[in-house]
Amino acid sequence: RIRIDGVSKSFGTRRVLDGVSLTVEPGSVIALVGPSGSGKSTLLRAINHLETIDAGSITIDGNYIGYTRHGDRLYELRESEVLRRRTAVGMVFQNFHLFPHLTVLENIVIAPLSLRRADRPAAEARARELLARVGLAEYAEAYPRRLSGGQQQRVAIARALALEPAVLLFDEPTSALDPELVGEVLAVIRELAHGGTTLIIVTHEIGFAREVADHVVFLDHGSIREQGPPDVVLVNPSHARTRAFLRHPT
Ligand code: ATP
Ligand code: MG
Repeated sequence: RIRIDGVSKSFGTRRVLDGVSLTVEPGSVIALVGPSGSGKSTLLRAINHLETIDAGSITIDGNYIGYTRHGDRLYELRESEVLRRRTAVGMVFQNFHLFPHLTVLENIVIAPLSLRRADRPAAEARARELLARVGLAEYAEAYPRRLSGGQQQRVAIARALALEPAVLLFDEPTSALDPELVGEVLAVIRELAHGGTTLIIVTHEIGFAREVADHVVFLDHGSIREQGPPDVVLVNPSHARTRAFLRHPT
């Protein structure tokens, strides 16, 4: 379970997250929606400590990723320990972020080999399983540039799954794709959702959020303005801000 408790974060004088609290149960699918600049990416980045936080705490199965607690104070951990703990969280970005100089297979095995000291045959076998799962079994030896955006994003999902994370974070996974490639990526995410993987998805695809999410969180100016079941938050929201957002969900 992920516990986000009273998290605040400022850049300079601008408060981007303002006391955000949220608990994510194992196997649940959270859709995180909200206007541009509301802090969605910052919150995702804070969960895996790509971003430090100024106040509050975030734990995954009881562990801090970037901090250790002594008494009631948190201290930052050293980078090597952060890297090790961060393997509890998989992240898929808008722009895929594959390593261009590595084949699809190498993209997937590099983290298990370096961070988990997995043995190569086992890591490769697992990578091929994951590639089959995202429909790309025959692309193991290809380089990312030969793949379409939708295929690259599916490789990125396989790569994130290779470390068997407790949670997978998606930051607008389809917004850089040509419209005809969106469906194939959503299909993979849908399958993960139905298979019980814990997911937090930042998306402007309101129809998709309504379909796959168990719980929708509407973030506005760094605070959770409204949250609840998709059919409430995305169909009958109680706040004017949510209604205004849903008319123009960008
Ligand atoms: P979008 O829908 O456009 O992706 P978002 O909800 O993901 O928006 P964030 O990227 O979390 O929003 O940004 C929230 C605010 O924090 C924005 O005003 C942004 O300009 C600011 N911000 C984000 N990262 C930084 C940074 N590294 N330095 C300074 N300001 C930042
Ligand atoms: Mg963002």
